[in-house]
Amino acid sequence: MRMLSVALLCVLALVGHICPVFAQEPVTWVQDIRIGQENGRTRIVLDLEGNVNHRWFTLPTPPRVVVDFPAIEFRKPVNEVALPEGSIVTALRAGAFRAGTTRMVLDLKQAARVSVFGIPGNTQRGPRVVIDVVPPKPGQAPTNVPPPAEVVTTTPFTPGKPTQSAAPVVPRQVVQADAGPITIVLDAGHGGVDPGACGKRIRLCEKGLTLYMAKKVQQHLKQKGYKVLLSRDRDVYVGLADRVRFAQRNNANLFVSLHADSHPNAKVEGATVYMVSEKASDREAQRLANSENEGDMLAGVDISHESREVQNILVSLAQRDTMNHSSYLAQSMILEMDKVADLRKKTPLFAGFKVLKAPDIPSILVEMGYLSNAREERNLSNSAYRDKLARALAAGVERYIRTHLK
Ligand SMILES: [Zn+2]
Repeated sequence: MRMLSVALLCVLALVGHICPVFAQEPVTWVQDIRIGQENGRTRIVLDLEGNVNHRWFTLPTPPRVVVDFPAIEFRKPVNEVALPEGSIVTALRAGAFRAGTTRMVLDLKQAARVSVFGIPGNTQRGPRVVIDVVPPKPGQAPTNVPPPAEVVTTTPFTPGKPTQSAAPVVPRQVVQADAGPITIVLDAGHGGVDPGACGKRIRLCEKGLTLYMAKKVQQHLKQKGYKVLLSRDRDVYVGLADRVRFAQRNNANLFVSLHADSHPNAKVEGATVYMVSEKASDREAQRLANSENEGDMLAGVDISHESREVQNILVSLAQRDTMNHSSYLAQSMILEMDKVADLRKKTPLFAGFKVLKAPDIPSILVEMGYLSNAREERNLSNSAYRDKLARALAAGVERYIRTHLK
């Protein structure tokens, strides 16, 4: 609860000031902030002492650009930097957003096209991060989303050259040694008083299966040097909101919730990978989301003590960027699962799972199969199949990290 209050405080602080709660050791320093104005474009250049990664997104009302860095400090106060006359950027501010994250916010006159990219340091110059903000041209979409392909590049900086083509972007997550290891949270669905779906033949229930699989996947990923935490490590009930908070508290880089499904029609089979959306992508996804979300009511726990509005603010904050990454994670998972399991759909499905609603952590939910289907219940009870599937789940996580976080 305390963590949530802090998070909320910071969300509210985003509108005006920056969250003052966290004192943190800087990863590096911003030596200078330079601002240029040319043909309507405002370019903000941060001169850094050391390399840092970043991620960015825009917010619509009021229009803002948000750029997140690991803990960095500024040699001069950001809000005292003079902005050129007529700039689309009306104000700048920055500060600690949460432990290990410094957030920079640009207030805009209007929604704008944005490009943010890093330039690694070389022998002549230190590393820089460049933020370009341009008013949309007539007929152009007012805002753009961060580019999906995020690769490290060593393209040298050419002053004055337009940056629209192949803007180099450093990966969104911080994975340097000083930022600690990549943290994966595995969430074993259900537990305790909430057994989840149960098969009719072997009477295998979701809560036992998900815990077993989470521990297996944890083993595999730990061997590769990742920090892997379980939202529950025994047969205990954990509320959906607490599972999300657990991931946030531990600064998880990604969140994978494990489940198995059941269907009135015993013929229905296949594994599915879901990501969150307000709108379900098909009726089956909505039915499933409803039944998974019911777990909380089943255990008599009220998760609605945070207002819907607050939840929405949290979700929309980093949603765009997180949605992109959830989709990469889902696709990586599908590629690996496809090697060992039958998939109901080979694309991620969207559903309104409460457990996936961490606003800032790429999250997916894997339904490993249908316990209502005789063959799948048998498979999911079989240790050889379980091991194969656990390896595939671990490989899916690894594939995502390899292609999108490193
Ligand atoms: Zn479930």
